[in-house]
Amino acid sequence: MTIALALHGGAGTLRRSELSPADEQRYRAGLEAALQAGYRVLRQGGAALDAVCASVCALEDDPLFNAGRGSVFTLAGAQEMEAAVMDGSRQDAGSVTGLSTVRNPVLLARAVMERSPHVTLGFAAAEDFARRIGLPTQAPGYFHTDKRWQALLLEKERLAAGGDDADIPEDRKHGTVGAAALDAQGRLAAATSTGGRTAKWPGRIGDTPVIGAGTWADAHCAVSATGHGESFIRCAAGHEISARMRLAGMSLEQACDSVVHDELLRLGGSGGVVAVDRAGRVSLPFNCEGMYRAAIDGEGRRTLAIYR
Ligand code: ASP
Repeated sequence: MTIALALHGGAGTLRRSELSPADEQRYRAGLEAALQAGYRVLRQGGAALDAVCASVCALEDDPLFNAGRGSVFTLAGAQEMEAAVMDGSRQDAGSVTGLSTVRNPVLLARAVMERSPHVTLGFAAAEDFARRIGLPTQAPGYFHTDKRWQALLLEKERLAAGGDDADIPEDRKHGTVGAAALDAQGRLAAATSTGGRTAKWPGRIGDTPVIGAGTWADAHCAVSATGHGESFIRCAAGHEISARMRLAGMSLEQACDSVVHDELLRLGGSGGVVAVDRAGRVSLPFNCEGMYRAAIDGEGRRTLAIYR
């Protein structure tokens, strides 16, 4: 029985010198809790889809990470959360965007896949659907954190002073959470959830809910991405990794490395992915300072790291 799980808490890390030991401990504890939540499901013979949802829910509930509680703010000072799931065994997917009250956006993405005739739902209609099916919601105050609010204020100042994308500090650029898993029955699944980018335009849709960009799973691999969403969309990063395995005979690691280090950088996109293949191999490449990440591969080898 081979099972494997890989997850990320975003590629937007503080510079190593700026992360205090106490904060580092908190991030590590959050990653560990999410790893255990998903791995427990797999160890008990559960589905990869259930495992990735369990890991992502744990990270959405943790205010340290940019998804669910603790999401970043748009230029207009609101939160517009997005999420996606993909079940590789059926090549079926669901995603949501523009959420402001749904406690666990990833569960709504799953409901869109399982309980609607569509793949993607957004904004008021997605919120209505969540209420109709009885998913827990929260008042906006639940999602608010001072850290993200201050990041918005700083970002607005930077933009007003004529700053461009190149000088955004990494921790303000990025953040997202996601997981990829292989279960004991050989099924692969991926899930991703995010608040998007600080000071994004209202209505902006990133790579997370775009199936094939920030989230992908099929019979070959499961991928969840984090980073500059526009670049991940422009090269269909998640799907491209699978295509390179399927059509070019690359290994999971070669496919992930070539997309993250060549394709994305060519487009100026920083970030990374976590991915799992059907043999339980895991790949966790990123092309920036760090990526909050954790994994247990098919041979039971554990990783939990932030920097290189
Ligand atoms: N990919 C996310 C987005 O562009 C943000 C991130 O992962 O940093 O919305």
